[in-house]
Amino acid sequence: MTMRILHAAAEIYPLVKTGGLADVVAALPPALVRRGLDVRVLLPGLPGILNGMTRLKPVMRIGPVFGAAVVTLLIGRLPDSGLLAYVIDAPFLYQREGNTYVGPDGHDWSDNHRRFGLLGWVAAHIASGELDPDWRPDLVHAHDWHAALAPLYMAQNPGLKTATVLTIHNLAFQGDFPMDCLADLALPVSKLMPHGIEYHGRISFMKAGLVYANRITTVSPSYAREIRTPEFGCGLEGVLRDRGGDLSGILNGVDYTVWNPDDPDIAKPYHVDNLKGKKACKFALQSELSLPRQARSPLFVVVSRLFLQKGMDLLLAALPVLLREGAQLAVLGTGDYELEAGFRDAAAANPENVAVFIGYDEAMAHRFIAGADVLLVPSRFEPCGLTQLYALRYGTLPLVRRVGGLADTVVDATPENLQSDRASGFVFSDALSRAIGTCISEACTLYRNPGAWQQVQRRAMVQNFSWDDSAAHYETLYRSL
Ligand code: ADP
Repeated sequence: MTMRILHAAAEIYPLVKTGGLADVVAALPPALVRRGLDVRVLLPGLPGILNGMTRLKPVMRIGPVFGAAVVTLLIGRLPDSGLLAYVIDAPFLYQREGNTYVGPDGHDWSDNHRRFGLLGWVAAHIASGELDPDWRPDLVHAHDWHAALAPLYMAQNPGLKTATVLTIHNLAFQGDFPMDCLADLALPVSKLMPHGIEYHGRISFMKAGLVYANRITTVSPSYAREIRTPEFGCGLEGVLRDRGGDLSGILNGVDYTVWNPDDPDIAKPYHVDNLKGKKACKFALQSELSLPRQARSPLFVVVSRLFLQKGMDLLLAALPVLLREGAQLAVLGTGDYELEAGFRDAAAANPENVAVFIGYDEAMAHRFIAGADVLLVPSRFEPCGLTQLYALRYGTLPLVRRVGGLADTVVDATPENLQSDRASGFVFSDALSRAIGTCISEACTLYRNPGAWQQVQRRAMVQNFSWDDSAAHYETLYRSL
């Protein structure tokens, strides 16, 4: 019989996206469908999701729950893939201005425990067959803390045999709340502490998921190893070590129908056998950003949330090296006010070499990645990282820290790797501005040797991180359960 899988998540590209999670939730289910699985998605009824889906119709009136008077389970079709997705329509919880997690005042919504507790609760009740009599999953795949209560709610029903997988996309976000929020979550207090949702006197959605899911995955093999250590475990390393072999890493893929150097957003298409269009993309980006149109200066770009996680402070400190090399830097991102201001100041002080666009713009991200020579990803930690994978396909060499998924996907241009034609980018080890600076200089040196540079570009462009491979690994995991 066809295996039925329900993916529960808070974001999905292009309807609601704050980071790589949305890209994964959009691409993995269709890749599983191509393998013959019966897959549906469950999403909260955020404005972008309700507006972006087609043929939405009610499945079940759920009624007052989690503080909302009216909650209705809808089903409809996702754009692009046309896959069926359930949507939790709960206007009191989801119909708001602002970001998915954060209100217009910049603070997390004070009822996020209810908003995402409901997501896990509905997943559990779809699993039990109570909400849609026509479709019942064999396995619930929950993504990140937002959906991480699903396995715990499912465990409240001892007769329910549906398997669960939790994928950690970023362990730094754990969904932790004051203990008194537990009263709002329709969970019996007695059973749950301390081996459950309780975590250092608070409640943690992620911890509950880590304890109750049958299997845990994260989005790269290196990050799966790293999060068992205090340096990367964000306090949950002990819980993760206790799960032993139940934790594994499956690398994310890329949707090459969206990220390919013939996409509609870029100035001119190009191809691994003919890179002329890439030069046009670089000139177009320089013009767009009012940077001098120079072919000889390597153009470094950042497309990222601007946070300490991403090593953006280290990059700012390494900027003098980049300027000394005569290179250009273009930044597209939003995040910490101080980092945004740091990049703005750098652009104001060096208008010939630095340009900054503070904002979130999907089409611009394509133009940055296509137009650049180097993409900088100097993260302190990086569960998988998607932009370096996009950059590879566009012949834009990633300059990354050897950590998490970055370590698993970029091969450093050392003399040996150049010799054996394996190099696809630049890799440094220590989270120090000095290390980034040295690596930037090495990239600039290689850039002055166009033959060697193009060899690395071609190597980068033929890398294949397709979702089909990742989906095959997920299917193997599902079948083992
Ligand atoms: P994370 O999920 O930690 O933010 P990833 O590299 O996994 O990092 O995914 C980031 C995703 O968000 C990529 O698709 C990237 O293109 C996109 N992105 C990040 N910042 C911006 C921005 N300012 N404008 C457009 N897209 C962005």
